Amino acid sequence: MARRKSRRRSAARRCRFCRDGVQEVSYKDLDSLRRLMSSEAALFSKKRSGNCSRHQRMVKQAVKQARFLALLPYL
Ligand SMILES: [Zn+2]
Repeated sequence: MARRKSRRRSAARRCRFCRDGVQEVSYKDLDSLRRLMSSEAALFSKKRSGNCSRHQRMVKQAVKQARFLALLPYL
């Protein structure tokens, strides 16, 4: 059987917000939000970003707020 190298191992790590002990994701934290978005400003899925459900939900809300305030682009 051919062995396949598992790519993107680092992305499957645990939630970065949990690791950093972040209680709430703010829309002002643009650096973090941008890192979780593709070049077309689409938010990465939970699987792709490695976030837990709780933080993924917060990120989603934060991105919505940031878009409303024109801090991030819409698609
Ligand atoms: Zn988390």
